[in-house]
Amino acid sequence: ATGPAALAAAGLSARYGRIEVCRDISFEVAPGEFLILLGANGAGKSSLLGALAGIVASAGTVTVGGRRIDGVSPQRRAHAGLALVPEGRGNLFGPLTVDENLDLGLRHLRSDERAGMRADLNRLFPVLAERGRQAAAMLSGGEQQMLALALAIARRPTVLLLDEPSQGLAPVVLDEIVAAVNRLRTFGMALIIAEQNVRFAAALGDRFIALRGGEVVDEGHPSELANHSGTAARLLGAA
Ligand code: ATP
Repeated sequence: ATGPAALAAAGLSARYGRIEVCRDISFEVAPGEFLILLGANGAGKSSLLGALAGIVASAGTVTVGGRRIDGVSPQRRAHAGLALVPEGRGNLFGPLTVDENLDLGLRHLRSDERAGMRADLNRLFPVLAERGRQAAAMLSGGEQQMLALALAIARRPTVLLLDEPSQGLAPVVLDEIVAAVNRLRTFGMALIIAEQNVRFAAALGDRFIALRGGEVVDEGHPSELANHSGTAARLLGAA
């Protein structure tokens, strides 16, 4: 028998005041699955992630591990297993060192679990161990993205929501992020990754859904995007 989806959304909408920016969105993510949320600027990717995380007003149902979480606070959604890494690496403390950021991120764990998690994070992101004494603000964009990821993983989420992890990164750095994110597969968590970088999406995703004007307009396997540039161009055309 198959268990419940890691996350399921049904009839989900998102709005700012009276302006609805996502409409009637339904999808499921299986445990361990990496789902790409593909769309151009303004297609509604960030708003959809915000609706899931509880920081953008929404209607519709959302379950995590089979349990309803719509209608509860962002904090309770986090407790239920959702973690959001916002655009622009918003959840790290720039003036603090990498080690200090990680200490804060691991504070909620039992003390006997911290060393194990720290070792896991060092294996996932070796560069963070090398940069331990540097201020987070002094890291490169790719290293900051890895620190933001590490802080989210330390929460051991069921579902990790990543908002445009490729944004502003050079191609060579993108490859490092792809490798690091792929190493997450051993953790068994599901990922929902908002992206408009087709190469990045194709290298990471098990499946994609495409958003346009706040609605799901297509879904498929990311290899279709890499092999048929026409598909990608159509999906990423003006939102
Ligand atoms: P981007 O890659 O630019 O972040 P996106 O696909 O994530 O694009 P959203 O940021 O979710 O798209 O934006 C979807 C729509 O919602 C856009 O029309 C945008 O202008 C609008 N929007 C986003 N944030 C707000 C806000 N705080 N108030 C009002 N409208 C907003």
